[in-house]
Amino acid sequence: HREPLGAGQLERALCQANDVDAQMEQLVGLLELSEGERRLRHLLVALFQEVFSEFFPSCSVLPFGSSVNGFDAHGCDLDLLLDLEPTKSLQSSARGSPGAEESILSDIDLASASPPELLELVAAVLRRCVPGVRRVHAVPTARRPVVKFSHKQSGLAGDISVDNRLALHNTRFLRLCGEADERVRPLGYAVRLWAKQQGLAGNPAGGGPLLTNYALTLLVLFFLQTRSPPVLPAVAQLRELAGDEDRVVVAGWDCSFPRDAALLEPSANSESPSSLLAEFFRVFGDFDFSGQVLSLREGRALPLPEAGELFKQGSLNLQDPFELSHNVAANVTEKTAARLGHCCRAAAKYCRSLQYRCKSTKGRGWGLARLFQPGAVEPGAGAASFLISIPVPAPWCPEEPGGGFKEICAGIAFVLRDVLRCSCTPGKPPKQLGAPRAGQSLPQDPVGGKEPPGDTAGVEEEPLQPPTASKRPQPDGTDGAAPPRAKRPRVNGPEQEEEEDEEEEEVVASWSCTVWHHVWTGRRRLRRQLLHGASPEEPEEGGDSLELEQKVSEAIVQHEGAARPPEPLLRFEASARLAGGGRREPRVLLRLTPSPAPGPLFRDFFHFLQAFLPPALRRRLGWGPGAAP
Ligand code: ATP
Ligand code: MG
Repeated sequence: HREPLGAGQLERALCQANDVDAQMEQLVGLLELSEGERRLRHLLVALFQEVFSEFFPSCSVLPFGSSVNGFDAHGCDLDLLLDLEPTKSLQSSARGSPGAEESILSDIDLASASPPELLELVAAVLRRCVPGVRRVHAVPTARRPVVKFSHKQSGLAGDISVDNRLALHNTRFLRLCGEADERVRPLGYAVRLWAKQQGLAGNPAGGGPLLTNYALTLLVLFFLQTRSPPVLPAVAQLRELAGDEDRVVVAGWDCSFPRDAALLEPSANSESPSSLLAEFFRVFGDFDFSGQVLSLREGRALPLPEAGELFKQGSLNLQDPFELSHNVAANVTEKTAARLGHCCRAAAKYCRSLQYRCKSTKGRGWGLARLFQPGAVEPGAGAASFLISIPVPAPWCPEEPGGGFKEICAGIAFVLRDVLRCSCTPGKPPKQLGAPRAGQSLPQDPVGGKEPPGDTAGVEEEPLQPPTASKRPQPDGTDGAAPPRAKRPRVNGPEQEEEEDEEEEEVVASWSCTVWHHVWTGRRRLRRQLLHGASPEEPEEGGDSLELEQKVSEAIVQHEGAARPPEPLLRFEASARLAGGGRREPRVLLRLTPSPAPGPLFRDFFHFLQAFLPPALRRRLGWGPGAAP
């Protein structure tokens, strides 16, 4: 069982593609289940089938949802239907026959059992009889009651529902659409991942205010039905193409459509996947979600009354393609619907930019990579920033104004400028260097209570939060997303001004930095060459001799042609402040805010700097382990 890909890995892989269409194709390959993962799911289904057949003769265990609908992703859950209809018929025909009393079926009358009773029975079988299954619990109150479980060896999470045959058909419908045109899956994967990153989708089975993946996929399919010419046919047209063997009615709803995508006419639409994605955002960025019904059956938006009286109107009206009285987005709140529109508009704007369409030659995020960064394409969202936390030996903790902090800041600038050959010009002149006022405690470390590992530098990349979540208050008085020196809007009056001055004290030094050379690559080899093998010990990154480190950087600069390239590799703002206090070690927090938004190149530089800077600084300032200044 594979873990979902890390954001960095995905981003790096996408950035290597040549254009956005290639990124979209690659995205599917990066996310979809491997053969091994599929096999494992088949084995699990077979295991469940074997066990449940013992208790419910002739029952079937059938997978639905993302494991089989063509929109699978590493780690997606395993949705299973336990179909007891054949068992019920068997039970009713066996009633009164000899031997029926001894049969296991005599325990419970399936036809008259209440859904919670059935669920408890299923849960009991799972708990007691299926090896490796854990955390079994029934959720009888959901719209579609399920028993949840997880599988220990594979880490898979799953749901078993009873009596939800519609799910089999809507799963088959999604699958058919994915097979009908090769642009459907790339678009579905891109929109699903984007929505997840924006915090618009994710909660399973409509339990919360967000869109389910099912609803989101239907939104994509609806969009494709409504292109001109259409990429996908409406469900009503599919019904016309259904053969006799495809005709089915489930719970009164017509679920007839062809099983085989080869029966469908190829689409006359020739839009590329990347322009379809841009159009998806444009169309839904400016869509009246609450005033009409998105009908996949008709392949167009309908006036609200046409959905019928039973249809539960809401902030987003998306009609199930088969169960026509069901609004699959009935759970979506007004706020989520508004955010969907807002995020679509921001994404549409980004899709018009060069950063979307053109591969970056400087290692910056472009195309999908940038689209998937939470908040990165949101107008007004703060820049992502990265934090390096440097523990300060106790005697350096400045009790008095200026006591030590000035030197620490000078040390940081020295390492950036003189050791790593970056340009580094002071930002806003440092205020109130160093010391908090008497009686004022040091600001607490914002790293969320997590102690950095080891005794050297602790580093934390600030989580890239969706815009709403990033508004959590930070101890530095900003909202966590704003650039380091952002001020709150001024309320005016001398008192407020004074208050602001106190806030400002926390940011005590800042620089604008530019990186011109790949000074973070190949250092180890150069270090060894420069030492001519003189030192038997591998020198510590940045900690051995700053003179040597300067020579290493010089060699890299020479190797790259000595002159500065016309364009820098990276730019970022850096700001340093003191944190810690209370029971926490005093430390200097260095915040790097790259602009434009960070790509893989910046991340590589950052990871290098987080290891390099603290020991280099220790050496510069003469701190041995536990050394006093
Ligand atoms: P995930 O990777 O999130 O599990 P998924 O493709 O399995 O994605 P889900 O949203 O879990 O999508 O949906 C699985 C099945 O559950 C769908 O095929 C559908 O039958 C049913 N379902 C999910 N959400 C809804 C909903 N809002 N209304 C009706 N049925 C739903
Ligand atoms: Mg699912």
